[in-house]
Amino acid sequence: MNIVITGASKGIGYAIAETFAAHGHDLYLTSKTANDLATAAATLAKQFPTVQIHFMAADLSKEREVMAFASWCLQKTTPTILVNNAGYFLPGKLQDEAAGQLQSQLETNLFSAYHLTRALLPSMLSVKTGHIFNICSIASLAAYENGGAYSISKFALLGFSKNLRLELKDKGIKVTAVCPGAVYTNSWSGSGVDPKRIMEASDIAKMVYAASQLSPQAVVEDIVMRPQLGDL
Ligand code: NAP
Repeated sequence: MNIVITGASKGIGYAIAETFAAHGHDLYLTSKTANDLATAAATLAKQFPTVQIHFMAADLSKEREVMAFASWCLQKTTPTILVNNAGYFLPGKLQDEAAGQLQSQLETNLFSAYHLTRALLPSMLSVKTGHIFNICSIASLAAYENGGAYSISKFALLGFSKNLRLELKDKGIKVTAVCPGAVYTNSWSGSGVDPKRIMEASDIAKMVYAASQLSPQAVVEDIVMRPQLGDL
């Protein structure tokens, strides 16, 4: 299978890339910082020498860079799986957060997935098979302390997922919304939170991989995951 993953240089995206590579699938990776992406790709290539690992850096908050990445992908492959994972968390309260925070959170956490999916879909539709995963959050499901604009962007990403699922039901393409609670990644390093208190990035990767393994007539619509001890 050909797996396109955004935000693949670290955290959840990297763990998903590692899991698919471990099962022998070819990767098409992107994230913003070119050096970090090249390092991640080199590590994966060393670990999984038989897998093809392609990568291109892009700032997915900018539509023209999303489209450039999409064209690059389509020149190389027809995606089997698209994982819209790139995103970041800016804490804030709606009343106090900086001007422009909603715009920047929407650009990275929502518009990136919207534009990339629309650009890659015609190719996936032409083969009537595929699977799109959108990495949402528990902040997509309920109000979240200091969630502010982030939570709005993640609610919107879940709305995108639900509508996409409805549209693609009879087109052979599955859509899964993944809603994790706290996962120990960069976002949490330096927070003082015990890594054992929250989930590991590989936990999310295992569930994404498992959901990709079902028969064509079955789809996992939503994956909701939390630390065993509950939300922080
Ligand atoms: P992370 O370790 O910080 O990794 C984020 C990835 O996204 C990096 O590869 C980063 O690349 C990329 N990225 C960010 N902004 C980008 C942009 N404008 N263009 C291209 N790539 C960009 O974060 P994570 O914790 O794994 O989070 C991954 C996803 O899971 C996010 O959507 C996040 O909202 C969601 N999530 C995380 C948690 C959690 O507790 N960690 C919980 C629920 C949902 P650069 O470093 O180069 O910018």
